[in-house]
Amino acid sequence: MRIGRVATLSDTGRRRLRNEDAYVCDPPLFAIADGMGGAQAGEVASRLAAAAIAEGERGGLGEDDVAELVRAANASVYRHAVENPSAAGMGTTVTVAVVDEAAGSVVIGHVGDSRAYRIRDEELEQLTADHSLVAELVRTGRLTPEQAVGHPHRSVITRAVGTEPSVDVDTFTLEAVHGDLYLLCSDGLTDMVSDADILGVADAAGREPDSVARMLVESANRAGGDDNITVVVFEVTEGEPRPETPTLEQAEPAPEPEAESPAPPVRRRGAGKGGRALAVIGLLAVVAVALLVVWWSVKR
Ligand code: CA
Repeated sequence: MRIGRVATLSDTGRRRLRNEDAYVCDPPLFAIADGMGGAQAGEVASRLAAAAIAEGERGGLGEDDVAELVRAANASVYRHAVENPSAAGMGTTVTVAVVDEAAGSVVIGHVGDSRAYRIRDEELEQLTADHSLVAELVRTGRLTPEQAVGHPHRSVITRAVGTEPSVDVDTFTLEAVHGDLYLLCSDGLTDMVSDADILGVADAAGREPDSVARMLVESANRAGGDDNITVVVFEVTEGEPRPETPTLEQAEPAPEPEAESPAPPVRRRGAGKGGRALAVIGLLAVVAVALLVVWWSVKR
């Protein structure tokens, strides 16, 4: 089992001046954050959370590890709010998905009203339960799902990242199946486009992640684009888990054998960046030599 194609798109929408959504797309890790707070605080909150998740220590791919990433995001946003009075009360939603290709599973971590969906066969399933006032009212039977649609208080969330010193994170694990398409999105999509229409759009896009992302954002904007719209789409396909080392890095000379066992793949991000940098330097060297040869032959 492995991650197939991935796509992300974040759009300010048609009514907001700023985009307060942020996302992380660093397979096997994906996340989305929708910030809230006065002035630019929402933007700061979502970016701080995304940065904390992207750069967080990845001890593993389990539920505890995912919860720990969200708690790190909480600590980062909360600390900033405490240290900056103008940012007091800021917070953000966070929805994280981490794919364990070897185990064939997807772990979701979630706080707030951004959502994770999965399209499998002919069905779209909302995987996360919104931590919102309206969703709580629906769950307790005091509001029907129909009444919830377009409810004036639908954006009131009951749980957020960064508003308290600690946060309660929902986590769960799903089995990954070939052909699954996962979608993480902010409420700027789901307030504008119904679940049935999300599935319709995904089908119309041939379930190709780039097209799905683009067409979903277009649909939300066509419906009014009241809020920022962010989507992260990835598919699960058959095949061997991706190798620990990206192909590009194979251009590097083999490293000196190390006495200790190699670090697990999730810790290899630094090495990956170094590999890319080395590959770029190698490419530049080839171009430089080619230019020298041309210059030399012209000079002759
Ligand atoms: Ca929003």
